[in-house]
Amino acid sequence: MTAISVTKIFKFDAAHFLPEHSGKCADLHGHTYRLEVTVARKDGGLVAEGSSAGMVLDFGDLKTIVQREIIEKVDHKMLNDIFPFRTTAENMVIHFYEVLEQQLAPLGVEVLKLRLWETQTSFAEVVK
Ligand SMILES: [Zn+2]
Repeated sequence: MTAISVTKIFKFDAAHFLPEHSGKCADLHGHTYRLEVTVARKDGGLVAEGSSAGMVLDFGDLKTIVQREIIEKVDHKMLNDIFPFRTTAENMVIHFYEVLEQQLAPLGVEVLKLRLWETQTSFAEVVK
């Protein structure tokens, strides 16, 4: 079966620090994060009819959801003030995955892969 998915890429800037980190991440600093969102329909196919016919999910709709549910909440924010967990890329990408799964489920769409880049050479990802 053909596995068809679509991916959209987002960026946000945010500050954080990691309490009790033995290295320099213990001090306040910032990152330009990059979030790669890959989604597919639960039936593995494409929308059959209507405005989104031939699509997994309209890129515009995906953008609206990710912006509203994630980017607007973290962009130019102090991450330690927002999240109850330690703000590692791993914890954040797991949280974002859960948020998006909840938002996309009613649309018949699931997150196949979510990759959060913390630097240009480091990322954490959740893969279904
Ligand atoms: Zn950091």
